Amino acid sequence: MPATAPTWTEERIERLKNRFEAGLSCREIACDIGVSRNAVIGKLSRLNLTREKTSDAPRPTRKDPAKAKRPKSVPRLQYRMLQALYAEPAADHEPIHNGQCCSLLELSKERCRWPISTPGADDFRFCGNPPVEGLPYCAGHTRIAYRPGSRQRVARG
Ligand SMILES: [Zn+2]
Repeated sequence: MPATAPTWTEERIERLKNRFEAGLSCREIACDIGVSRNAVIGKLSRLNLTREKTSDAPRPTRKDPAKAKRPKSVPRLQYRMLQALYAEPAADHEPIHNGQCCSLLELSKERCRWPISTPGADDFRFCGNPPVEGLPYCAGHTRIAYRPGSRQRVARG
């Protein structure tokens, strides 16, 4: 056996290209193939494989307000939406349910998850109306859920 096997066999080069195209970092590629990270970087440059998006804009820390993580409390926009909801007159008399009641299994992000009747009961359902954007409840239930001083209030069918 030769003392030093060539670092870059055909197979390794293929894997290098595959991993590179899959978007793995040099370190990850190096780990995967079993060579040093420097070897990966050197081979990539010899193969003229570069990542344009990272070489051009090497600032992944730049904050995109739309993608920034929101705090867990109700964000300002939603707070405004709530204010707008409360500002509407006569809302208390609006019927909230419209026959879209759904079971737990049918719940999704597009359905109000306000419990109707008693949890555990045979006819237990969730509201199922289209929710206010970014909130788990429809407009009517959002009012009830977030109304100041109404936290103790029991859901009414
Ligand atoms: Zn609802």
